[in-house]
Amino acid sequence: MQFSNMASIMAYTESIVAAALRRSLGHTPKIIPFDGGLVIPCGKASSGASGAPYCGKVLVLGRPTDGMLRFLGLKNTPALPSIVGQDACAPARGELPFTESPAVLNYISHPLLAGLANHLHRRPFTRFDYEDEWNNLGFGRIRTDNSPWAVEGGIESDGAIELASIQLRDAQQQCHYAGCYLSLHDTPTSSILWCARPVGPLDSTEWSIVERFISDWRSDDMPCLPCLKHAPAGYRCLVTMRLDCDENVASAKDVFDWYSGEGIPFSLALKTSLDLKPDDLALLQEVSDAGGTLLSHSHMHQLSWGPTPEAAVSDAATSRKRFEELFPSLPPVKLAVSPFHTNQPYAVQALAKTGFTGFVSGIIHNDPEYLMGRAGVVPFVDAPIVTISQQSMLHGDCYRRQHYNVDTHIMAFEAQYQAEGIFGYLDHPFSPRYQYDWESKEQRLEAHSKLITTIQSYADIAFWAQQDCFEFVNALAEVQLNVTPQGLVQTAHPSRNDIAYRFKGKEYLLADAVFF
Ligand SMILES: [Zn+2]
Repeated sequence: MQFSNMASIMAYTESIVAAALRRSLGHTPKIIPFDGGLVIPCGKASSGASGAPYCGKVLVLGRPTDGMLRFLGLKNTPALPSIVGQDACAPARGELPFTESPAVLNYISHPLLAGLANHLHRRPFTRFDYEDEWNNLGFGRIRTDNSPWAVEGGIESDGAIELASIQLRDAQQQCHYAGCYLSLHDTPTSSILWCARPVGPLDSTEWSIVERFISDWRSDDMPCLPCLKHAPAGYRCLVTMRLDCDENVASAKDVFDWYSGEGIPFSLALKTSLDLKPDDLALLQEVSDAGGTLLSHSHMHQLSWGPTPEAAVSDAATSRKRFEELFPSLPPVKLAVSPFHTNQPYAVQALAKTGFTGFVSGIIHNDPEYLMGRAGVVPFVDAPIVTISQQSMLHGDCYRRQHYNVDTHIMAFEAQYQAEGIFGYLDHPFSPRYQYDWESKEQRLEAHSKLITTIQSYADIAFWAQQDCFEFVNALAEVQLNVTPQGLVQTAHPSRNDIAYRFKGKEYLLADAVFF
């Protein structure tokens, strides 16, 4: 994304943050841009603007101006080491199990971190599990390039609690303090959560810290806003899987049979220009008959569905039409996995324009606008289309380099489990050309079996097909939550009875809330 000036950067940042807040809060609160970041007053009693005193509960994202620093309990410390370039990370290949940037975040223990999985208490700015394309733990990249995805460093606490610090690891793995990343500053009249990154931690389940701050923190004397729970009521986490079929569909039969035996729904994303043989069609029908989901994986498998907005619209429409021809008795396809996991905003707009209501997203390599810790509405599109980021790829090369275990994928699941969200992962069918570096079909099934067995040992999880997960997320996206001056929660469009929200430390069913 190229920007002509600061105003256009801030408009871009605001759109991304507004969508993230909408996903959590069921409405978009007032957002006040300043030179380098955003101020978000949380609740009616809150206020905050550049250089002005703060009162109430306020979220501040991005580098504060000098005039704001003292209200945030922060100070400039130019002597801190520079972090520029410390997000660099070698591709994961060869024998290394994964690669990480020298810059990492270190979190302290604090009640606001109750939704954060253990392994995220120390997280690198960048991590790769496969080339420079996948972070199978699921989070995005904190950059140091002055973009909305970057932090600058050089700021320390001066009264605020430092929830997360920036550390730089040297060649000997010694850590050196390089500034504050996330802080909490409480005074008798205000509570301010500050994140050094203009977009905050929205591309990770670290966003749950923001949600806890808004919904729970100082509920006795500060305004709180209800936050939507991102797993259905009664569950801690939804788990969903899919295979992306670029080539040979029927070779997924053994994986489908194994999942069927386990009673777990199965989903397949289909590149619709494939020359489908009878056994391919039979498997697709079988998946659908068993309650699984068929998604479009585009028609021609071009980057972002095509080189121009018009080409993307044409490819998306062709793929939907082809689905109808192939499966006239099924409802029209409305879900997609983008080719090469590329989702430039124009591609997402093309999907919305051609009748798609949901797409799978999430890859650290590209299109950070659509990599998100929470599923739901997306920026830069007005239509009701949602996404679920599912950045955990089972792959033979990763499995070998990571010593034939699936610990990384289990940690990715843990992140969503602790944050009460949706964990999605993927694999691929084999083809004569490429077997995704699996040594054999047996080895691939062994990896799936290890993952499923471990997930099944957790309480309150559900395995759902992609369709069912997206229906839940589409319903979440319709919810409008707000608090009345009397402190009651109001809502509109509660379309199902398994939607819950968190308010002042407790979980409530949306169906029990007061309606407009
Ligand atoms: Zn593909």
